[in-house]
Amino acid sequence: AKRNAGARYEFFSPPLNDRVQSEMLTETLLRAALQTRQLVLHYQPQVCPADGRLIGLEALLRWPHEKRGLIPPGEFIPIAEKTGLILDLGQYVLESACKQAAEWRQAGFEFGQVSINVSPLQFRQSNFADTVRQTLNDYGLPASYLCLEVTENVFVDTREQLVLNILSELQQIGVQLSLDDFGSGYSSLNYLHRLPFQELKIDRAFISGADTHPQREQLFEAIVRLGRSLGLRVIAEGAETAGEFALTVTHHCDGLQGYYCSPAVPANLIQSQLQSFRATLKASGIMNDSDR
Ligand code: C2E
Ligand code: MG
Ligand code: MG
Ligand code: MG
Repeated sequence: AKRNAGARYEFFSPPLNDRVQSEMLTETLLRAALQTRQLVLHYQPQVCPADGRLIGLEALLRWPHEKRGLIPPGEFIPIAEKTGLILDLGQYVLESACKQAAEWRQAGFEFGQVSINVSPLQFRQSNFADTVRQTLNDYGLPASYLCLEVTENVFVDTREQLVLNILSELQQIGVQLSLDDFGSGYSSLNYLHRLPFQELKIDRAFISGADTHPQREQLFEAIVRLGRSLGLRVIAEGAETAGEFALTVTHHCDGLQGYYCSPAVPANLIQSQLQSFRATLKASGIMNDSDR
């Protein structure tokens, strides 16, 4: 009897069932969290490696959970994308970030730009650019303070011409456009020069360990040069150590966003994070005087 029970168990394939059920539960809870505005944005500083100056803040979504603490986006964004909830979620992020940026401007805080992540599904809405324009208007935020990050995935499953049209509409509005996780997806080298991006974010995989592996460093340097030669602002994602950070100075990245400087933190902790980073910089002597 025991063996039979085991066989039945296998036949119904519970792991799959469990997964579907837990995804459905997640979607229900996520929808409720969105409706009650429980989702929060944390902000990760982007700094100029040469002098530690703040040049931008990336808004990253967090889902506070009673028992589990903050749930990271990797656990719920894919489900939101599957179910289409990402459209409402994306609008919530757009509004929250614009509101916050407008408040920072009022307060005289010079944050450079606020960056938000845009899902390919949002991009597929033909009125996406109008929505962005309207939201900027609603909060009185000049377009140049907002940066939209998209990954190469935006070109998967969507006609290239449609993506290009929306990108150029957004460019006309005056928002900044950034290509996120560069090098990690399917290569965009052949269209990079035709896209109206101002910024390239080099995927964390390229800086990771590049200070101790010369070939990785060469690859990292080549990508920085590629971006710069196309006139793009180049941001290195994910420097965690002093050695990795030093590479962003040596190879003249325009910006660095990584744990070495700061993780994403609630808005009220940004200033103190930056202060302690600058203290570390001063003490380490990594800063390149000739670049200041
Ligand atoms: P992303 O846009 O590439 O964001 C950078 C991710 O790298 C963030 O993870 C950040 O915390 C992490 N990171 C930054 N520096 C370091 C580092 O030095 N070391 C390591 N190990 N990680 C670092 P997070 O917040 O978990 O977000 C993961 C992804 O979820 C984001 O990747 C983005 O694709 C997506 N995401 C986050 N918020 C949103 C959102 O509001 N909308 C959409 N559509 N996607 C979002
Ligand atoms: Mg991003
Ligand atoms: Mg990224
Ligand atoms: Mg990513």
